[in-house]
Amino acid sequence: QKEITRLPSWLKTPIPDSSNYKKIKNDLRGLNLHTVCEEARCPNISDCWGGSSKSQATATIMLMGDTCTRGCRFCSVKTSKAPPPLDPHEPEHTAEALSRWGLGYVVLTSVDRDDLADGGARHFAETVMKIKSKAPGMLVECLTGDYAGDLEMVSLVARSGLDVYAHNVETVEALTPQVRDRRAKFRQSLAVLEAAKAARPSLITKTSIMLGLGENEEQLWATLRELRRIDVDVVTFGQYMRPTKRHMPVHEYVTPEVFELWRQRALGMGFLYCASGPLVRSSYKAGEAFIENVLK
Ligand code: SF4
Ligand code: SF4
Repeated sequence: QKEITRLPSWLKTPIPDSSNYKKIKNDLRGLNLHTVCEEARCPNISDCWGGSSKSQATATIMLMGDTCTRGCRFCSVKTSKAPPPLDPHEPEHTAEALSRWGLGYVVLTSVDRDDLADGGARHFAETVMKIKSKAPGMLVECLTGDYAGDLEMVSLVARSGLDVYAHNVETVEALTPQVRDRRAKFRQSLAVLEAAKAARPSLITKTSIMLGLGENEEQLWATLRELRRIDVDVVTFGQYMRPTKRHMPVHEYVTPEVFELWRQRALGMGFLYCASGPLVRSSYKAGEAFIENVLK
């Protein structure tokens, strides 16, 4: 596959505003939370944490450790067949720390834990329940794996009290075997999103797609149609960025205009909202989007 090395101008982002970083560090001091925002040095941190008010601010927290049992070709997370055991105090500590931080919207995500009988679903659900009891006003989104197709586990998480159930299809069906771990199947991911909605129809379901992996227009249209068919509410589009030379090459840097086109198309198909742009990640300003599009 052809490799593109030069970064287009729209992906060259300024280093996030330092006063904001300072505030973030102060907020987080002593809370012992692992935010993906900080650890991945996400370029959106000023937008998400700064936001227009704290009640709309979004942060993403990583649960269940930093080692994944899968190895997707676009992802730089560490991999092992036997990651360390879960910390049984993590749900309580996370809820306690988040309630002290007092932000409006939290995204809980995790590595995939195929080594655990329940894939970590109970741990996830317990964390949501503890957050909702300590900080009832906090909106909670869970970005989960596919629980190896165990839809009982999907239902368990969907019924834990969360507001948004997110699971990423990542790419179009035809590219899935090249892009994701061989255990992650496109149809299985659709089944996860469908099961979450069936477990609680009032739940908002959400998925994310990376562009620039070699997908074509027709495949993207077909993906969006499949997602609408199972009543997925929210879709986001972002540019695939190659983490290291060992990962899949970028096929194309999609222009901001094309991202905007897909945003319009998604809205035209009935998605409740859509974030779409070169630097968009699935959690990008999720709190603000939820408050403006769902709670209004
Ligand atoms: Fe954090 Fe996600 Fe926003 Fe990045 S896009 S700053 S990871 S909430
Ligand atoms: Fe990365 Fe998720 Fe794939 Fe694990 S399952 S390698 S965390 S994308």
